[in-house]
Amino acid sequence: MNRRKLLGMGLAAPLAGQVLFEEYDPKSTLRVPGRDVKRSKFPHIDIHNHQNGMMPAEQLDRLVADMDALNMSMMVNLNGNHGEKFRAIYKNMKGRHPKRFIVFANLDFENLDAPDYRDRVARGLEEAFRGGAQGLKLFKNFGMTTRDKNGKRIAADDARWFDVFEVCAKYRAPVLIHTADPKPFWEPWDKNNERWLELKEFPSRRRTAAKDGSWEELMAESERLFRAHPKTNFISAHLRWYGNDLENLGRQMDGMPNLYTDIAAVIAELGRQPRFARQWFDKYGDRVLFGKDVWAPAEYYTYFRVLESTDEYFEYYRRRHAFWKMYGLGLSDGVLKKLYYKNALKIVPGLEGKGFPA
Ligand SMILES: [Zn+2]
Repeated sequence: MNRRKLLGMGLAAPLAGQVLFEEYDPKSTLRVPGRDVKRSKFPHIDIHNHQNGMMPAEQLDRLVADMDALNMSMMVNLNGNHGEKFRAIYKNMKGRHPKRFIVFANLDFENLDAPDYRDRVARGLEEAFRGGAQGLKLFKNFGMTTRDKNGKRIAADDARWFDVFEVCAKYRAPVLIHTADPKPFWEPWDKNNERWLELKEFPSRRRTAAKDGSWEELMAESERLFRAHPKTNFISAHLRWYGNDLENLGRQMDGMPNLYTDIAAVIAELGRQPRFARQWFDKYGDRVLFGKDVWAPAEYYTYFRVLESTDEYFEYYRRRHAFWKMYGLGLSDGVLKKLYYKNALKIVPGLEGKGFPA
């Protein structure tokens, strides 16, 4: 066995001066002006957050204090569950901080082959909306890993879910939907794969067309879903995995007026193309919502800095997403206000605009 192979298996120490890719961590010698941004310039709404809605009151209070420090006015908890659990989560969060938390419901996937499922799932969601849910969240299982009794993948635009989206239109409730995964997860795990490191750290994230449907199929199915329900607003999460091809995403938005997106977990895509991304936001700023996904307050600083500053070549916090540095977009106040709260106030029902700048 040669040295290269042994290295690959972690069995040989590198020769002097040789460094493994994963270990290479050069300390930048660049000195340019710039600073952390620990609070957003305007109050913001986090449209994409995951919390344990049953946390005790003291923990909820601490969460609100952490939100205050970031200038976060409201947070959407996407993990609202359904039925009895939804009611308990809603009561726990809204009962304590009615103006700070927004709860999105999830669908019931129990017995989804039963003849009454289509009606039952739609009625269940309607009940959640009547009980205060302000949107629907669909996780990545929807359309990708959810299967029928024969083991067949159920597409996002399957008829059994049609009524669900009409109920959303009726209550003007947006659907925050996670479709597929980053495209490189379907591609060969080799030296040319931009997510090589992530797939090394999490081999289970690799996907295949045979098992999960191809990336293109999943995207096409979700597009058919959006087009089938023109009165329902869809927030296709994570820049719809088109953060590396914003022009394409813009074309999709041109063709689908009910298509919105969020920037959750993909700020590193924007931070590597500051000039084009800024132009793109000038054009599509009405369709993008602020969200972060993983709750780690200090990581929000990077979001604010990328969006607001014109700083150059600064650190991102998760190498498996980006082995490159960040650059600030320097978005205008007008675009920041849309991204931080105006778009959310527009498409999430029942939000109070009081306290947000005009
Ligand atoms: Zn998420």
